[in-house]
Amino acid sequence: MSTYEHALVTGGAGFIGHHLVHSLLGRGLSVTVLDDLSVGMRANVPAGATFIEGDVRDPGTVAQALAGVDCVFHLAAIVSIRASVDGFLRDADVNLMGTLNLLEALRGRGVRKAVLASSMAVYADSPRPVPVPESYLTAPISPYGVAKLAAEQYWLLIGSSFGVGPTVLRFFNTYGPGQTPTPYVGVITIFVERLLAGKSPVVYGDGEQRRDFVHVDDIVAATVLALEHETPGAVFNVGSGRPTSVNEIATALIRELTPGMKPENAAAPPGEMRNAIADISLIREALGYEPSRPAVDFADVIAYMRDEPQ
Ligand code: NAD
Repeated sequence: MSTYEHALVTGGAGFIGHHLVHSLLGRGLSVTVLDDLSVGMRANVPAGATFIEGDVRDPGTVAQALAGVDCVFHLAAIVSIRASVDGFLRDADVNLMGTLNLLEALRGRGVRKAVLASSMAVYADSPRPVPVPESYLTAPISPYGVAKLAAEQYWLLIGSSFGVGPTVLRFFNTYGPGQTPTPYVGVITIFVERLLAGKSPVVYGDGEQRRDFVHVDDIVAATVLALEHETPGAVFNVGSGRPTSVNEIATALIRELTPGMKPENAAAPPGEMRNAIADISLIREALGYEPSRPAVDFADVIAYMRDEPQ
């Protein structure tokens, strides 16, 4: 595939990370995973990968994890807009300072590709459900978005001066099997978990907020495409390009799992965007990315969660 041989995946025991690790191993790369298991699970890490349990904020651990590595995928983060509103110090400590600690460790190490997992949360809220390109205003409305935006800018600036091929991928709402169901994770995982337990899904606000739900397989495909192409300094949206409301998700899942059930409503939490839809023209054109699913498809999430003890 590429000229790369050994990847470090931070956060590789987490939801997106472990799917990426499987894909990289399948392409013949050696993979080291660094994860503190605060959310991720040891069992997610395939036997073929080297696992280091530790914190991205710890310089010694990061140096150990980088041994022999020529490409880096930085996914370790506290992934919660809501938690960042009260816990902005903790959020910035991991999501910004952890990123800077990793960047510092890349100095002079021979890493040639460094991909940062960023987020749609860097954008200003969009009043209408229209796709936003990478050039759209970056004015985050959550501390999580502020930290991700600052991390992006350091990644591109310092990463360029270190010659590590810095690349930023702005992931939109990622769904798929294998997401740890904490109270903060994706709405699809939370709704499926509640419906399988016979509880109503809780819709925040009026439910007409629209999101770009993108399957984790597509997120992984885009990330691998970023490895296969020369992308130094690039910033790409990764989504489906398609708006779907939270009400549409609730209705479809209820129809599938517990027909007749009514969703509950709760006040919209601060920091959540009204609309967040990706314009994916740039990544389509530059990397040949194409989302694989014509509509949001829950089948593998439901199958996974039925099998897992809740
Ligand atoms: P996740 O919580 O499943 O994965 C994050 C992993 O990082 C976890 O395994 C956790 O244990 C680990 N981690 C947290 N703090 C750490 C630390 N200090 N040191 C080492 N490891 C640490 O979340 P995910 O959905 O897989 O997200 C992966 C990346 O994608 C994150 O950077 C996130 O911000 C980004 N992202 C995700 C989504 C989404 O919808 N899931 C959307 C946009 C961006």
